[in-house]
Amino acid sequence: MSDKAFDCVSCGACCFSRNPRYLALLPWDAARALPPESLFAEDGQTYVKFECGHCVHLDLSSGKAVCGVYKDRPEACRAFRAGSFECQKAIRANGLLGEKVRPPVAA
Ligand code: SF4
Ligand code: SF4
Repeated sequence: MSDKAFDCVSCGACCFSRNPRYLALLPWDAARALPPESLFAEDGQTYVKFECGHCVHLDLSSGKAVCGVYKDRPEACRAFRAGSFECQKAIRANGLLGEKVRPPVAA
């Protein structure tokens, strides 16, 4: 996080997407310890799996948005700057903790 006005663990909006190919690995990610079962390959490109509208590494169980692979998170996640145009666009589209796109919790 680079901007104190944007608290990533209270947000996580950029870890949500309905696009299963939202998070592609880049050459710099080859040395990172991402669990193989969290990845899939298609047409020569490797992606991080998204399930239920968010990255499989996003842990929402504490009511916060916690990246389960923070130390080894992909390059694209590292490049995503809090407070940037893309950040604010993700918050508008997905809402804090993905409230706008998360499937409703079964009663
Ligand atoms: S959308 Fe912005 S504030 Fe929210 S988690 Fe991503 S970088 Fe942080
Ligand atoms: S790897 Fe971590 S930071 Fe990147 S999308 Fe998944 S949960 Fe978010």
